[in-house]
Parts: sequence; C-alpha cells; structure tokens
Amino acid sequence: MQVFNAHQREVARRISAGADQGNWTDWRWHIRHSVRDVDTFERLAGIRLDAAHKARVAATVERFPMAVTPYYLSLIDGADYAGDPVFRQAFPSPRELDIGPHDMADPLHEDRDSPAPGITHRYPDRVLFHVSNLCSMYCRHCTRKRKVGDAEGVPSRRDLEAGLAYIRNTPAVRDVLLSGGDPLMLSDERLDWILGELGRIGHVEVVRIGTRMPVVLPCRVTDDLTAMLRTHHPLWLNTHFNHPRELTRSSRQALARLADAGIPLGNQSVLLAGVNDCPRIMRELVRKLVRARVRPYYLYQCDLSEGLTHFRTPVGKGMEIMESLRGHTSGLAVPTYVIDAPGGGGKIPVMPNYILSWGVNKIVLRNYEGVITTYDEPDAYQATECDRRCDACNLSLKTDDAEEWTAVGIEKLITDWDDTRSLTPRGNERLERRRHDH
Ligand SMILES: *Cc1c(COP(=O)(O)O)cnc(C)c1O
Repeated sequence: MQVFNAHQREVARRISAGADQGNWTDWRWHIRHSVRDVDTFERLAGIRLDAAHKARVAATVERFPMAVTPYYLSLIDGADYAGDPVFRQAFPSPRELDIGPHDMADPLHEDRDSPAPGITHRYPDRVLFHVSNLCSMYCRHCTRKRKVGDAEGVPSRRDLEAGLAYIRNTPAVRDVLLSGGDPLMLSDERLDWILGELGRIGHVEVVRIGTRMPVVLPCRVTDDLTAMLRTHHPLWLNTHFNHPRELTRSSRQALARLADAGIPLGNQSVLLAGVNDCPRIMRELVRKLVRARVRPYYLYQCDLSEGLTHFRTPVGKGMEIMESLRGHTSGLAVPTYVIDAPGGGGKIPVMPNYILSWGVNKIVLRNYEGVITTYDEPDAYQATECDRRCDACNLSLKTDDAEEWTAVGIEKLITDWDDTRSLTPRGNERLERRRHDH
C-alpha cells in the first residue's frame, strides 16, 4: 500500500475537499490534477511568492510549460522551499529564459539522427524509441525542453507502427530503449502491445524502459503494470533519481515491485547546480539506490539545451564527485560520469586520472587514498596476432563472420588487421597544402 501521510492528505484536500487515499494512489488522478499554474502551485505547496517574481515565473511558463504531480509537489518542504531540491526540479526559474551563447534547442541532434518517426539511431546496435511525448511532471532540467508540452508530438499508433517497422527492418538493432516523454504515460494496454511487437522481432535481444515515474509518481507502478511487464523479459528499466530526498517510502515500494518482477533497475542522474552538486549528497543518493536494488548507471553532465544555464556546473564538479565515490563506497554504487557530446557524438565517459606514469613493463598508479603504486606488466606476453580468421586462432572463438568485422574510430589504430596509422580531421591545412604542391 502506498503511503498517504498527513501532509499528503492536506495537499489532496486542497485539490478537492473529498479527496481520499483512493485518489492519492490513483495515478490518473494525479495526472488530472497535475499542477500547471503558479497560483495553484503556491496554494498546494503552501508557499507565497512576491508579485514581481511571480510575474517573471509566469513569463517563463509561457516559454517552458510547468506540470507537477501532486505527489511530487507534496515532497517539497514549504517552510524552507527556496533551496529545496524537489522545488528546484519542479518549479520554473526565471533564469530559464537566460539563453547562453552555447545553448541549443537540440544539442544532441536527436531530431537529425532520426531515420523514422520517433527513432533516434545513433549507435550501431541500439536505438531510442520515443513512444510518448507526455510526462506526468516536467522536470525543469529536461534535455528535451524543446518538446515539452507539445501536444502535436504525441505519437499516433501509425507513428509507432512506423518506428516498429524501422526496427523490424534494421537487423543491426539488438537493443531498444523506450523513451519519450515518459513511456509509462501510456496505458498498460498500449505498452503491452509495443513490448509484444518488439518481442516478436528476432534480432531485438533486450528492451529498456526509461521512466521517471518511480520518482515523480510511484503509484503508477501498479501490480497490473508489473504483472504485464514481467511477461516481456528480458526487460530492463532505468529511472531518474537526482537526490536522496526523492527516495521516499512510496518510491522504494515501487522499485521493490519492479525488482521483484525480475526487472534489473538502473538510475541515470543529472548533475544539477543547487540540487545535487555535492559529494555528500551524491554518496548518500547512490547508497540509497543500491539499497533499493537500483544500480547507479550514469551521472550526466548537464546538456547544452536552452533553458538550463542555471543548472550547469563545471565538469570539475563532476570529477570531484567521482573522486569521492570510487573506492570510498561500493563499486556497485559508482555510476559512469558522462558528457553527451553536442552534435550527436554520444556519451563520452570522463573520470579522474588514476594512471600517473608508464615505464617499460611497469605502470604507475594512484588509488583513491593517494597511495602511489606500481603494477608490473608481464615480460613474456604472447600477443595473438589477429587476422580475423577465428577458425585458425588458438583462442577458439569459432566465430565464422569475423572477417566482416570492420573497425571504427580509435579501434582502427589498434587492430592488427587495419592498416590505418593515423586519423586526420577533414580540412587539415597541412595535407591540403601537400595536395596543392602535387
Ligand atoms: C544514451 C543513448 C543510448 C543508450 O546508450 P547506452 O550507453 O547503451 O546506455 C542509445 N541511443 C541514444 C540516442 C542515446 O542517447
């Protein structure tokens, strides 16, 4: 049973005098009563803004709409809201209208890397499939702010069919990430249909769902939903907790239901100034996640989307956080810190340096405590020369299609069987000069 505490009862009553626990645990009730204007927000959260600030927030909402579930709003500490991490993620800041010189509507080029409706195909073997443009709550730090509240962007069944057809016709796709919007805004029936269609595609080996429902509307994780999801294994689910305060009893119950249904859980946090840019907060967050059977997966550097300038930290803050996690707490609790490359280059991991130097057959390392140590490399390592003929290899992989394997990027420089010696950016002046000299 989901929690319904005295404060939540009060919020529910302010929405409607007769509201009871049955309403509070009904996810559609929360969507119907999602808070979309400043006055209602003030009234429900029990806060008061001065008139000038309110006018600026109203102007912000014109550009970037607001929606907050009563549940998520109920987590705000009304007595001390200004620095409250839930308030900051839910309530518009006039600073969202400060668009910086480097900001872009679509920094990750998700729309340009879209070969079919709703599909972003960036990596060789996996695609993002945007199955819903709706969210129960509009995170103020959303990287897809350009699409938020865009009613025309709700994919029709025909759009979904077209996305499915692309996946069906693209054998390289072995991993499909359902994204959005929030895929759990769809009805159980619609989601069941999509998962069923994907399950029938032979080359699709795994499906992942990306959803913030366990954070912003945990009652969405009903017994019916988990009973349906568990029929579609192998299914993974990634959620989006940013602060330990969000791991309420209701959220932990939702996560337990999903984990009990055999769904491996991951978490993707975004590093946000004024919310979680603190090693202590992050350490508590990742520990609480692991306790709830959620593996911290990624920590994202905040994207260059428009409207996020006030949330961005220097990369050094993320490095400092990673430095304070690795070694200091369970490796299982340490996410990979990534910068999603502007222009669509994908996620690039960044981390502190642990290699200090390298000699012949000896590498010098430091650990999290600052201890400097050496690792002796083998003197007699017999490297297996790879010509991609696995049938003749002593490693006996017995793979018959290795010759079709082509190297990409840095891999070209490392493999034995690719002659590439260097990679040179297009338009290199020195090489242009050479060409003219000839
Ligand atoms: C993040 C992302 C993926 C998945 O990346 P993983 O590193 O496999 O989790 C796939 N496609 C796009 C466009 C992405 O942004």
